[in-house]
Amino acid sequence: MASPHRWPGLLVACALAAAACSSPPGEEAAPLPVTYGPSGVRPGAPAPTVELAGPPGDHAADIIAAHALTDLAEFWADELEPAAADLAIDPYDSTSPTMMFCSAPAASLGVAAYCPATRTIGWDRTARFPALIDEFGPLAGVLVLAHEHGHAISTTRGLPGMHDDPLVWEQQADCFAGTYLGSIMRGHSARFRMNTSDALDAVLIALLTVRDPSPIGQARHGTGFDRIDAFAIGVHHGARACTSITARTIEQRRAGMPDRYAHALDRGELPVTEGTARLVISSVAEFLDWPAPPAVVTRAASECLDRALQPPVEHCPSTNALELDLPQLQNAAEARDTARPHGDFSAFSIIALHAILAQHALESPDDLGSETVQRGLCQAGAWAAATAREDVGRIYLSPGDLDEALTALLDPALNSLAAAAIPVGITRIATFGDGFRDGLAACSSR
Ligand SMILES: [Zn+2]
Repeated sequence: MASPHRWPGLLVACALAAAACSSPPGEEAAPLPVTYGPSGVRPGAPAPTVELAGPPGDHAADIIAAHALTDLAEFWADELEPAAADLAIDPYDSTSPTMMFCSAPAASLGVAAYCPATRTIGWDRTARFPALIDEFGPLAGVLVLAHEHGHAISTTRGLPGMHDDPLVWEQQADCFAGTYLGSIMRGHSARFRMNTSDALDAVLIALLTVRDPSPIGQARHGTGFDRIDAFAIGVHHGARACTSITARTIEQRRAGMPDRYAHALDRGELPVTEGTARLVISSVAEFLDWPAPPAVVTRAASECLDRALQPPVEHCPSTNALELDLPQLQNAAEARDTARPHGDFSAFSIIALHAILAQHALESPDDLGSETVQRGLCQAGAWAAATAREDVGRIYLSPGDLDEALTALLDPALNSLAAAAIPVGITRIATFGDGFRDGLAACSSR
């Protein structure tokens, strides 16, 4: 976030994330069921019909790729004619100094790629594809192949291409991937199963690892917020909604997102301290018109005997103080070992949400069920949008902050309370996004 104060030497942007997923006119969102349990290739799945050739691969990752490519061809043949039936596959090896894919050195490519000229899907069979599955699970591998397959669908249907509008091209591929993975999550795939709790969260995090750093500058894949938004449209509204994505609809979904830094040196990052936490709380209190905002203390200084909520932000009802586990919150903001979006708003969004939930708990003790948590998430999103407009408080949302909040909303260590009440991560994000886009009016019905 940015502050009008001159925090010596720092400056930056926060980002919040809201997965805005507004329903296309006339289409009702089909909610995902809450499911747990194993995810991956179904035991006893029919043998894949796609055979892999080419560079050396990892056995487990090859099985996932073969099943995914077979399943995608079958799914889209039913779902959207004409199917991308004449697609070729050509795995590559990014560790090879000589291998090429689509006239590009394989070493320059990412996990997977689509070549429009030859209608070929490629993926790094040797290194990056197996590594992605190791980190995020089998469905992350399915996700990237579904995304590349989505590009093939756009080509087949004559939708805007890579060179016409790169952001529309990428958003449609994310959306088609969401349509396919949505069918897996609803139990419609003979080859894969996928729960809507930790497996979906892992897929969303995988999606966030490849993103544009902020809405500023040349758009390529879109921000993390944009990507999850497009994926959610596919999950909830299906392929027809994906074909309706245009530059204009993307612009509408981005309304209210900060598009500039406060000044030339600003990069939207404030330190996570007791002081900045107080700025967050006073901003939320002003926005929601609280007569008695909670105090802020560190957990180390606590003398509280009746803590409520969950770490890293607990509430002490007897003193109306929020107790912060500052090292954990600072860790969330720094997260140097990960490609996930992180920064000050990873911590500030969690502090704001817990302050709001503490207020609800004071008003209605023992009622932090899913409706209350939904209302709190929505209010946190509405507050974030107000700070982006600089309508409230003394710290303001910066480009990139929304993505930092998305990571926090998907991190069970930061968000166990919200995750317990609303187990489907994409719903937590969408609820936050509803508040961001539509303000407090969107929260009152919850
Ligand atoms: Zn792509």
